[in-house]
Amino acid sequence: TSFGKRVLVEDTLGNNYSCAIRQHLGKLVAGDKVVWQTDLEANMGVVVRVEPRTHELSRPGFRGQTRMIAANIDFIGIVMPVVPGIHPDMIDRYLVAAKQLDIPVVIIINKVDLLETDEDWEAIAALLEPYDALGIELIPASTVSNEGLQTLQEFMAEKNSVFVGPSGAGKSSLINALIPDLDIRVGQLSEATGLGKHTTTNSILYHLTRRIEGSDEMLATGNLIDSPGVRQFSPSPCELSELESYYPDFAPFLGHCKYKNCTHSIEPNCAILEAVENEEIAVSRYQSFQRLLTEFKNAAEESKP
Ligand code: GDP
Ligand code: ZN
Repeated sequence: TSFGKRVLVEDTLGNNYSCAIRQHLGKLVAGDKVVWQTDLEANMGVVVRVEPRTHELSRPGFRGQTRMIAANIDFIGIVMPVVPGIHPDMIDRYLVAAKQLDIPVVIIINKVDLLETDEDWEAIAALLEPYDALGIELIPASTVSNEGLQTLQEFMAEKNSVFVGPSGAGKSSLINALIPDLDIRVGQLSEATGLGKHTTTNSILYHLTRRIEGSDEMLATGNLIDSPGVRQFSPSPCELSELESYYPDFAPFLGHCKYKNCTHSIEPNCAILEAVENEEIAVSRYQSFQRLLTEFKNAAEESKP
């Protein structure tokens, strides 16, 4: 994690060192791999190099600048709760954001312990049908019944993961279930950084561990990076054609509209609208596409001088 002008660096043995950063390196974030020099006696060091990042998670910051949130993420769990409800619109926003970064996703259907009847399950399954058709992995999960937690751990093995999703989706509960000694670690971090618990809004990388069956030994099984910023991660405004490319279910129909630059809203002889009418494209997918298009158009207008 980074704090103030320093970062807490973990060495290969799992020890943490508070490090200064050589000025030309810019801001460092959770997930960065660094080369550093240490003064072991003082438990301090200085970061002298950052390895090239594979993925940068960032969010819009002050005056159109972007603020880095995390680096080297290679797995996104979109957490959606069955109660109060699954919102396809939100899923689609996260899917577009993940596609923009080219990071693989799963959808975690959370709190399934609250589904009581077959009808409840069917209603959820109907909402999720478009994602199933796209080949996206759907993981029913619950921290009450522990369903899905092992599957999730398997997906997260050897990766740097983040959980995204609306507030109340159960992300904290999932993280607590996957990192049983989280409280202790947060305590250790706050000691090492000199900051109070829960005061840092910067991303923190945690190791996931799993108890080896029939033993007291814990197995390291990947990392989870979390922060308020990570959780609210959203797509960046883009052009129509780029947005289209993030909707693979639209692909068979693209290029068949009457107008070449068709926005698939009010134009006559629109192949996308026809596909929606013929139930070849889910209405919810069409609607989220239009909402994002409008949002991106507004963002482009606002940023004009
Ligand atoms: P976050 O805002 O996404 O971090 O969500 P929280 O983890 O804080 O959970 C929000 C609420 O949902 C809390 O009241 C939790 O107790 C509850 N909750 C979380 N996971 C589950 C679950 O698997 N089943 C049920 N029934 N409730 C859950
Ligand atoms: Zn069209």
